Amino acid sequence: MATTYDVVVIGGGPGGYVAAIRAAQYGFHTACIEREKILGGTCLRVGCIPSKALLEATERLHQARTQFSEQGVLVGPVRADVAKMQAWKEATVAELGRGIDELFRRSKISRYFGHGRLVSPDRVLVETPEGTQEIAAKYIVLASGSKPASLPGVEFDGDRVGTSTEALAYAAPPKDLVVIGAGAIGLELGSVWHRLGSKVTVLEYLDRILPEMDEEIASHALRVFERQGIAFRLGCRVTGVRREGKRCVVTCEGADPAPADRVLVAVGRIPNTENLGLEAVGVSVDSRGRIPVDEHFETSTKGIFAIGDVIAGPMLAHKAEEEGAAVAEYLASGYCHVNYDAIPSVVYTAPEAAAVGKTEQELKRSGVAYKKGKFPFVANGRAKVLNDAGGLTKILADAETDRVLGIHILSQRAGDLIAEAAAAIEFGASSEDLARTSHAHPTLAETIKEAAMAVRGRAIHI
Ligand code: FAD
Ligand code: NAD
Repeated sequence: MATTYDVVVIGGGPGGYVAAIRAAQYGFHTACIEREKILGGTCLRVGCIPSKALLEATERLHQARTQFSEQGVLVGPVRADVAKMQAWKEATVAELGRGIDELFRRSKISRYFGHGRLVSPDRVLVETPEGTQEIAAKYIVLASGSKPASLPGVEFDGDRVGTSTEALAYAAPPKDLVVIGAGAIGLELGSVWHRLGSKVTVLEYLDRILPEMDEEIASHALRVFERQGIAFRLGCRVTGVRREGKRCVVTCEGADPAPADRVLVAVGRIPNTENLGLEAVGVSVDSRGRIPVDEHFETSTKGIFAIGDVIAGPMLAHKAEEEGAAVAEYLASGYCHVNYDAIPSVVYTAPEAAAVGKTEQELKRSGVAYKKGKFPFVANGRAKVLNDAGGLTKILADAETDRVLGIHILSQRAGDLIAEAAAAIEFGASSEDLARTSHAHPTLAETIKEAAMAVRGRAIHI
């Protein structure tokens, strides 16, 4: 007879494993099916963590090469050991993966290693190389995540033309790396290999980079990346990639072809819904392959829920986590809510670009009257001693009520600074609230206070 659980989660990424742990905390008898050995999903295996490991290591390399001596720190010739860097990255991933195993063990969650497929609204077949097994559940949560999107005319060859997964694992810096797409992946991994010595050219279809970010922040960031030596071709629609021996040629509409010895395709991600058995239970998908859900994350089939990258919304680990916790809360209490306005997003380049709430262009489009306060890091003491005075903090507040609607930051550690901004939006703060909050000196966070004061033209240090 099939083992019966209260909750079965398919997928052990940040959405799935958080849903499983939260469900177990509520007392549900819970199982999680994951087909990869390591729990943690795209985020831990081939996403957030390995990319940040390489970004941290290569940024230190860059600083040692370009900034240390100015600050009186003298070191010998600084070299990169890419094999060691990759090994350190892998060790970090493995250790964090073991951490999730331990969380599951403590929460008494049954982990199934295999591919999960729905066979009926309350049954899942787990397929493993050793055989199949059916398990039963009162509620099923689909958290199967996403995979890299491809482009017509571009074939991944597992060698020269690949996705972020390959670009996280290059054994040596390519001489010429062409990156297709100036989103988070293109800019983060482009930065990594640029710092390790590759000549990096980013081809972007739009006339700007970072399409989800505030335009002013994105154009400021573009100037900084160009100064760093990354080349950009904007308004460039890639039509194909052809191999010429070990080299590749990337063809673009109305522009010269771009030669490369490696090509990173970073044009977005698509939901993982194949071989999930959705048809068997009547779960529909939309025109972009995502699973539609209601405000409680329930799909078109009662008792089956979906969260994370496989549903609509920003493809972010912490968004998936919020939804994972929320769905468990709903199963336990009948209520749940995720405030999408307060979900921050961060691009971990140097400087980092971080945002929460509305962009200026979104407010303009929706006709909301707003006031704006800006503060440049050049006037912040801590930024000066960190050798990072190029960025800015910008606050958008409702013109009538002063409620903070959006905060955008371009600076070192902007990803950490944005937490205060997210809390402000979550608590419905006004710019006056932020302006009256004492911020420790000297910190980068003072730019948030100053930008809030600038909303009424009262910044002190500018
Ligand atoms: P996933 O993490 O994709 O997990 C889904 C899991 O389900 C996978 O482990 C998969 O093996 C498993 N699975 C799928 N189908 C089945 C099945 N039928 N049976 C069993 N198992 C199955 N986001 C951030 O917030 N910050 C970042 O810094 C960041 N950096 C990124 C860098 C890169 C290079 C990439 C590619 C992504 C990055 N992301 C980042 C995005 C983030 O990784 C995703 O938004 C997040 O992982 C989504 O979580 P999820 O749980 O929905 O899906
Ligand atoms: P993206 O959607 O962020 O960016 C893709 C870019 O490719 C866009 O700017 C798009 O205009 C461009 N593009 C599309 N077709 C093109 C073509 N034919 N020629 C040239 N350019 C083209 O996607 P991504 O960078 O691949 O990231 C995928 C997902 O992973 C995103 O949702 C992102 O949020 C997430 N992610 C997040 C982080 C982070 O939070 N730091 C890091 C990496 C990835």
